[in-house]
Amino acid sequence: MKMICIGRNYSEHARELNNPVPAEPVFFMKPESAQLRNNQPFIYPEFSNDIHYEAELVLHVCKVGRNIQERFADSYFDGIAVGIDFTARDLQQKAKDKGLPWEIAKAFDFSAPVSKFIPLSVFPDISKIRFGLYKNGELVQQGNSSDMIFSFNRIISYVSRFVTLKQGDYIFTGTPAGVGPVKIGDQLEAFIEDKKLLLCNIR
Ligand code: MG
Repeated sequence: MKMICIGRNYSEHARELNNPVPAEPVFFMKPESAQLRNNQPFIYPEFSNDIHYEAELVLHVCKVGRNIQERFADSYFDGIAVGIDFTARDLQQKAKDKGLPWEIAKAFDFSAPVSKFIPLSVFPDISKIRFGLYKNGELVQQGNSSDMIFSFNRIISYVSRFVTLKQGDYIFTGTPAGVGPVKIGDQLEAFIEDKKLLLCNIR
C-alpha cells in the first residue's frame, strides 16, 4: 500500500506557512513503512529538531482505479479516518529553499499514525465533517471538510491521472490551520465530530 498526501488544501493553513493557495492539488507520498498503528507512541526522530503535527481526514481506497472521472470518484473510497501527517518542518524548509523533494521531511518511518476507518454510511454528509486535534488537552486544530479547496472527489480524480489507486491505499486530504511543534512527553488526540479516535504519545 501507499499513502498519497495532499498539501495546502485549506487556505488558512496555506497562508500560515506563507504558501500560495494552489490552483491544482499538490501531492506527495508516504510509503507503507510510514504507518503507525494501534495508537502506538511516536518516537521523536534524531534527524529533526522541529517535528510538527498536521491532523487530516484520511480516505481508505477500496478499489483499483486510474484516470477516474470526478463524478465516479465517490465509489473508490469506503471509509474515513483521522490521521497525523508528521512533518520534519526544519528539513522541509531546507528542501523547499533548495527546490528539492520533500520525502526526507514527510515520508520517514512512523510519520503517519491513522485511526480506525469509519464506514462512509455512518456520516450524514461527508462534505461537512468536523475534525481536529488536541495537544495535551488543548484544542489546537479544528477543520471541516466543507473548507477544503479540493473535494475528496476532485483529489481522487486528479491523483489518479498520475498514479494508479489500489485497494488499501490511504489518501491524506490536507490539514487545516493550527499546525505546530511537538516535544517528547506531549499527548495528541485527534477526533472526528465528537469522537476521539486517535491517541498518539510523543516519546
Ligand atoms: Mg499534511
